Amino acid sequence: MFSYPRAMRRLINELSKLPSIGEKSATRLAYHLVTAHNADSLNLAEAIKLAKTETILCRECFFLSANTLCEICSDHTRDATQICVVEKPADVVAIERSGGYRGRYHVLHGLWSPLRGISPGEIKIDELITRIVGDNQSNSSGTISVNEVVLATSTTVEGDATALYIANAVSKYGIKVSRIAQGIPKGGDVEYADDLTLSHAIEGRKNF
Ligand SMILES: [Zn+2]
Repeated sequence: MFSYPRAMRRLINELSKLPSIGEKSATRLAYHLVTAHNADSLNLAEAIKLAKTETILCRECFFLSANTLCEICSDHTRDATQICVVEKPADVVAIERSGGYRGRYHVLHGLWSPLRGISPGEIKIDELITRIVGDNQSNSSGTISVNEVVLATSTTVEGDATALYIANAVSKYGIKVSRIAQGIPKGGDVEYADDLTLSHAIEGRKNF
C-alpha cells in the first residue's frame, strides 16, 4: 500500500503515541516538522532529548527535578512539617503560583480509580506513608516530623476517593489530615483553579 517514506512513517508513528494525538494530527505534525526550517525541528528534537535526560523525579516528593532533591525539598526555609498531596506536577506549579503555601509536597502521579483499573499500589501512596513514618521514626534523633497532611487532590470522584484512602491510611499515625475544598467547585481540577481560589482553598482547608 502506498504511503510516506520510511523515516516520515516512523515519525508519524512516534507522534501518534502522544496523548490526544490521533494519526491525522500526527501526520499533520510530521509534515510540519519535515518541511519546517532545519533549526526549528532540530531544536525541538534537542529540547526533547535534554528534557528527557535531565529531568528526574525528586527522591523525596516525586516532583520533576534536575537533581536528586527538587528545589522545594532542598529549600530549608520551607515548612517540612506540612506535606501537601497532589495528583500531578502541574498541581504543584499551580499551588506555588497561588503563593499561599510554604510547606512541602508529595506528587502521587495519578489518582486511585477502580473504574479505570488504577489501584492505590500504582500511585505513590506507599511512598507517602514511608515518608511520614520514616520522618516520625527519625523524630527521636531530633528531625522535625510531619504533623499535617494537606490533601489537595481535585474535587472529582477519583480525587475524593484518593483523599479518603490516604486519610484512612495516615490517620493511624496521629497526624492531622486536612482537605482543600472551599471555593473549588465539585469536579474541579486543581491545575486549572485560579490563584485566588487556590490560595483560599489551602488557607480554608478543613480537618478531614
Ligand atoms: Zn521534592
